Amino acid sequence: MDKTIDEVVDYLNAKSNKRFRGSTRGTRLKIRRRIEDGFCLSDFKKVIDLKSEEWKGTDMDKYLRPETLFGRNFESYLNQKPKSNKDKNRYKVIYKIDGYKDFLTLMKHMPYEEYLKTEHWRHFREEAILFFGKKCQLCNSKERTIHIHHKTYENRGRETFNDVIPLCHICHKKIHAMEEKKESLA
Ligand SMILES: [Zn+2]
Ligand SMILES: [Zn+2]
Repeated sequence: MDKTIDEVVDYLNAKSNKRFRGSTRGTRLKIRRRIEDGFCLSDFKKVIDLKSEEWKGTDMDKYLRPETLFGRNFESYLNQKPKSNKDKNRYKVIYKIDGYKDFLTLMKHMPYEEYLKTEHWRHFREEAILFFGKKCQLCNSKERTIHIHHKTYENRGRETFNDVIPLCHICHKKIHAMEEKKESLA
């Protein structure tokens, strides 16, 4: 049992960057009680993992301590669902300056068909439809297929509503034909 107690304290110290002493009586007692309840080393590790993931670097950091972790909430901590990092990490890439530059370069240079499949574009497209309404801005048609046409490709990856226009299939074709003509004349 003593070996398990030491391992629990070592594991907690490693995960929390703290220096709890395995020799402290209160700490040993708490851990011993939980072992007597039938919990094993991997249960302790799981609680330490879950709570340090959740609390480290937050206001709750101070509770990453034996009294709190191995006290009467031990079992409910053990059974809590891991918090998803998905939301927290969602915009990480955008806030890192280098990451954002890389993101824009990628968006600008990837093949257009690929670009249309990106999360960024699909999201922006939805926002544009909400903003303009789902109708052609040239002929007011509300036919099912509304294309969000790029007036300019300059701002790929960071479009504003000035860069695009919703068009029905027919108007979209016409615009592209006109643009091609302009290009061949230029
Ligand atoms: Zn277009
Ligand atoms: Zn139209």
